[in-house]
Amino acid sequence: MAETAFTKKYFLYFPKCETEKPIVYHLVKDYNLMVNIFRAKVTPEEEGYLVLDLTGTAGDIARGLEFVRTFNVTVNEQSIGLRWDAERCTHCGNCLPHCPTRALDFKDRTTREVRFDAAACIECLSCVANCPFSACASVF
Ligand code: SF4
Ligand code: SF4
Repeated sequence: MAETAFTKKYFLYFPKCETEKPIVYHLVKDYNLMVNIFRAKVTPEEEGYLVLDLTGTAGDIARGLEFVRTFNVTVNEQSIGLRWDAERCTHCGNCLPHCPTRALDFKDRTTREVRFDAAACIECLSCVANCPFSACASVF
């Protein structure tokens, strides 16, 4: 039976020496993966940060990530490029109309407690610009 494709988000950190390598190209061409890049940045020190979705079978994704790691790239499957600080959040709701995916939303409309769903975040950073309490910040 054919393997089912799925989509998962990854946060990649590229050490200085690896930023020139066409890694994303090879993920598409050699590992049959669909790549959706949310955000990429190269620092003045030439370190690279990349947040992307990979779509493919479990086997292709695993092989693709194995290939990526051979370039000394750190693959983080747990964290994303946006940090939401629950301690700083006052649940004012100011960011909610600016969040296109409802990654930030009321957990409960009665209590109006805001919650953050990292899996739904597309890293547009609208919340960073619209949080008066600096509860949202870019990691890079
Ligand atoms: S970065 Fe964009 S998608 Fe993610 S929580 Fe903020 S506003 Fe929502
Ligand atoms: S704008 Fe900031 S403080 Fe207000 S709900 Fe959103 S994250 Fe929390």
